[in-house]
Amino acid sequence: MTGPFLAGERALLLDRKSRRYLVSLREGGQFHTHAGFVLHDDLLGASEGTTVRSTKGAAFLAVRPTLSEFVLGMPRGAQVIYPKDLGTILMLADVFPGARVLEAGVGSGALSMTLLRAGASVVGYELRADFAQRAEANVVDFLGPEAAARYRVEERDVYCGIEEEGLDRVILDLPEPWRVVKHAEGALRPGGILVAYVPSITQVAQLRDTLAGSAFAMAQSLEVLLRTWHVEGHAVRPDHRMVAHTGFLTSARLVSADRGASPSEPALEQP
Ligand code: SAH
Repeated sequence: MTGPFLAGERALLLDRKSRRYLVSLREGGQFHTHAGFVLHDDLLGASEGTTVRSTKGAAFLAVRPTLSEFVLGMPRGAQVIYPKDLGTILMLADVFPGARVLEAGVGSGALSMTLLRAGASVVGYELRADFAQRAEANVVDFLGPEAAARYRVEERDVYCGIEEEGLDRVILDLPEPWRVVKHAEGALRPGGILVAYVPSITQVAQLRDTLAGSAFAMAQSLEVLLRTWHVEGHAVRPDHRMVAHTGFLTSARLVSADRGASPSEPALEQP
């Protein structure tokens, strides 16, 4: 979206202390804060970067939320994958416009939105109907009808099988990804990529065991550590707090079903 703010869109408001609020704009709407309220009508028709004032004079900077900001602020039932991992998944899975991707489970749709925004066509398998609906609503809300037309969520258990064939990518965020390896072998095209996100290293070990005896090769596992910095005058140092753990990422490529032991990827070396 470009141009001035329109009704039906989201705006991200930041107060003087950079606290963030995600607001759905509508004519006649009001955004209530500890410091009075902001009239949505003051934002409608204004351009991004505008500063508006609440009834008590507090200033709020208004911009459109980025995908990261929307993911962290959107309505969510299930835990979402953090932006640092979402970005890495796009690279590990080498997602490209038109890629046919199967995603399971779908949760609140943070990963779905990331894949769709990169141009993929996504089929999601999700056990819970309420999560499936929430994800579809979040996709329409942030990405609009064009992306929604490339997205379908089915209420089903991926451990029971994958109906799709000739997929480019299978991306998993669920507790027992090793139970999907056999199904992914049948559903991916040769050269296709499997990526799995799991929070515990014992899950990584079990997945790698299963991959080692499968038609997948080039397996690798990693985690992404992201540390933000406090930069203010001469006080330039890492922030005191960080999200120290989210999950581990494992990727592998489908080579050939009759291949014996699959060599894993050597650790990445510095150039
Ligand atoms: N990646 C999502 C979050 C997924 S949370 C996001 O970024 O928003 C994990 C989801 O997997 C939950 O919604 C859960 O219901 C679903 N799930 C667990 N096991 C499943 C299975 N066997 N088949 C399909 N979905 C499953």
